[in-house]
Amino acid sequence: MEIEVRKLNALKKYEGNFAFDYEPPADMCLIPLCNLEGKVKVEGSYVIYDDDSVGITLNLTYKILGKCSYCLNDAQKEIKYESDILYVTEEDDENYIYDGIKINLKTAVDDAILISQPNVLLCREGCTGIDVTNK
Ligand SMILES: [Zn+2]
Repeated sequence: MEIEVRKLNALKKYEGNFAFDYEPPADMCLIPLCNLEGKVKVEGSYVIYDDDSVGITLNLTYKILGKCSYCLNDAQKEIKYESDILYVTEEDDENYIYDGIKINLKTAVDDAILISQPNVLLCREGCTGIDVTNK
């Protein structure tokens, strides 16, 4: 999960791709009665700029498994999410910071997992909840 910026600079590899599987922390899912299933697939690309800032595109794919937020039936959903972020060497309010040597993507990936989660998990499109009418 690390990008060795200084080393890549020395090798003149100013652009490239990466891919890894990430085991998310157990408490990462915000939806009640649901969990992230398996590993989060992370793919992306980086560009190192002249001022040592590094632009990164992250592509995440993961699955949420659990109970439908409305009717409690089994439910699952695959989430795909893309985000563009920038790492800088001097702290500002908008970007991620790194030491100019290497970037650890964990915080950014954790953030992306949190941001990309839906508010509810549904068993099917348009689930209206537990049917309480007598048939
Ligand atoms: Zn449902």
